[in-house]
Amino acid sequence: MAIRPIRLFGDPILRKPAIEVVDFDAELRQLVTDLTDTMLAAPGAGLAAPQIGVGLRVFTWYVEGEAGHLINPQLRLSEEIQDGPEGCLSLPELTYDCRRALSVVASGFNMHGDPVTIEGSELLARAIQHETDHLDGILFIDRLDPEARKAAMREIRESEWFGLERPTIKVSPHATGGFGL
Ligand code: ZN
Repeated sequence: MAIRPIRLFGDPILRKPAIEVVDFDAELRQLVTDLTDTMLAAPGAGLAAPQIGVGLRVFTWYVEGEAGHLINPQLRLSEEIQDGPEGCLSLPELTYDCRRALSVVASGFNMHGDPVTIEGSELLARAIQHETDHLDGILFIDRLDPEARKAAMREIRESEWFGLERPTIKVSPHATGGFGL
């Protein structure tokens, strides 16, 4: 079991688009294991590879008691929208309502290189969209309306974690409202 430090807002890797996985090897399987362990320990409902400092298109989720992972995801979004609370393990303690597609069909690969399709709605759909955004260097605060985004930026600047020289692991579980992603 390997729990890796979670990169926080301000770390440039969170803004860098991740690259497609081409080698489905032991190193990739270790990455999926580390992502899963780190996500469950946080605890969070999802985690993307850039959040632990790896610029590959891989993410994991843990929603309604089920853990999963997806590599090189391609999403098809429903037109129907959901609006509700969202948070991010890279932005500790922030929770803001964020509009997302209500459901999603995500195709990609598992860690063995087999093609897989995941269908999800509500929280699973939210997690998949949030994590896929991470792979494109997008954070959920980018998707807020301007007023909420301003409030979020103010909260970030005033937070005790922002501007720390090194990424740190929070030892105690931090409040993400159950929506840390
Ligand atoms: Zn996140």
